[in-house]
Amino acid sequence: MKEAMKKFTKIVATIGPTSDTRSLITALLHAGVNVFRFNMKHNTIAWHEERITLVQTIADELHIPVGILIDLQGPEIRLETPEQKEIHVKKGDRYPVTPAYMPGIQSIVVPNAPVFQVLHVGDAFLIDDGFIEATVVEVNTDGFIIEMKEDAVIKHRKGVNLPGKHIALPSLISDDLAKLDMAVKHNVDFVALSFTRTKEDVEILREEMKKRHVDAMIIAKIESQPALDHLVDIITAADGIMIARGDLGIETPIERLAYEQKHMILECRRQRKPVIVATQMLQSMCDNPRPTRAEATDVANAVYDFTDATMLSQESASGQFPEKSVATMARILAWNEKHTVPSWVNPTEERTTDTIVHAILPIVTDTKKDAVKAIIVLTETGYTARCVSSCHPGVPIFAVSDNEKTIEMLTLSYGVKPIFMRFPSDGMITTTHDVIKELKTKQLIAAGDKIIFIHGSTWRKSGMTNTVSIMTI
Ligand code: ATP
Ligand code: MG
Repeated sequence: MKEAMKKFTKIVATIGPTSDTRSLITALLHAGVNVFRFNMKHNTIAWHEERITLVQTIADELHIPVGILIDLQGPEIRLETPEQKEIHVKKGDRYPVTPAYMPGIQSIVVPNAPVFQVLHVGDAFLIDDGFIEATVVEVNTDGFIIEMKEDAVIKHRKGVNLPGKHIALPSLISDDLAKLDMAVKHNVDFVALSFTRTKEDVEILREEMKKRHVDAMIIAKIESQPALDHLVDIITAADGIMIARGDLGIETPIERLAYEQKHMILECRRQRKPVIVATQMLQSMCDNPRPTRAEATDVANAVYDFTDATMLSQESASGQFPEKSVATMARILAWNEKHTVPSWVNPTEERTTDTIVHAILPIVTDTKKDAVKAIIVLTETGYTARCVSSCHPGVPIFAVSDNEKTIEMLTLSYGVKPIFMRFPSDGMITTTHDVIKELKTKQLIAAGDKIIFIHGSTWRKSGMTNTVSIMTI
């Protein structure tokens, strides 16, 4: 097994124009990607469908469980450029901004009507995570006029930030619904919602997913002050979160980012839900084969914060070194994980599973005697595996399930290696023998290894975990 594959922290990599071939996707998988992200705000549905199918085909051929995450626009503002072309602007240039294309006017389009009700002369109009700054200098009947603060290149479908403005945008746009129709067709595992503001945004998405029978985890993207204000409720309503630092760093004061990151990760661990640290983790690797020291340290610090996953955006989507970026990230994760100490976090709501996991943790952390080599859990919904995962035990967690969806959803959780196995048809466990035999055949454990086995007395029922076996096999 390659060293990169032995890491515990998961890697989410965005697929884009510089990473969408069979050979590159295969290389990214071998380098350590666990979940591929498709940012539905770019390109066409057909483009994404083709690549999702390609990833799934490769994963099946390689027998590697891979998660598919689609990223929806939700209540996020994106601009459109005339004919989708780049606009090269100069400092002081003025551009009209309108809610729709207007014949004869080369305007920037912001297709969200409520934006036009809240902007006044003097307001900031920020583009692409705030890297391009402009100011509103005139409001008129067509829309408004912005003046550029610096020379810049504005690209089609870049994000717009209007910090501090409360804009009444719907939770989902009609395009998002079309993408949910695609999600069910392609068996997507995670649906990320940009700019989640409250638990209601999550509930509306869940309702739309239910209507369409989309069986996927909802990942709420935390990237604005309202989301931070409603954090606990959002995590409770969702199935996991993404700390989307790009927009968060412009929507809230940048000096708070590190603090909020630690706080969000801890809350997710309490709720036993996966958390992704995202944006600019190895940004300089878009153009360079090596990261900056600050970036390498940022990835390592996410490990010490106990995140489940770290993410690559532009680095893998449109950068020059997608494979190197993944390999570098995997190396940093793997090395630093060895220097973390497992720790228990009290759950928001204690279940029997939590009590059992709490009880076994001292055995896992006891390095004086023969060390525990692996924790095996039998899991139907994935909760038991995520509960163990939240402690970052520092040994592999083999999550055995006969539920393919659970297997794929566990691709995002720290330290979990999901393993598909058919369970006996009567649903009763008589022995742990079969599972151990299977793991030995797969060379995941070996004779002489001390392992901890957590399971229930029946295979299929969820919430039935009640048994622990500690054994040397
Ligand atoms: P978000 O704020 O959701 O992260 P983003 O616009 O910053 O959105 P990323 O997913 O971070 O986008 O990707 C970085 C860049 O890579 C995008 O701005 C875009 O230029 C390019 N990109 C990403 N996915 C695609 C795609 N499917 N097709 C074309 N270009 C893409
Ligand atoms: Mg981004």
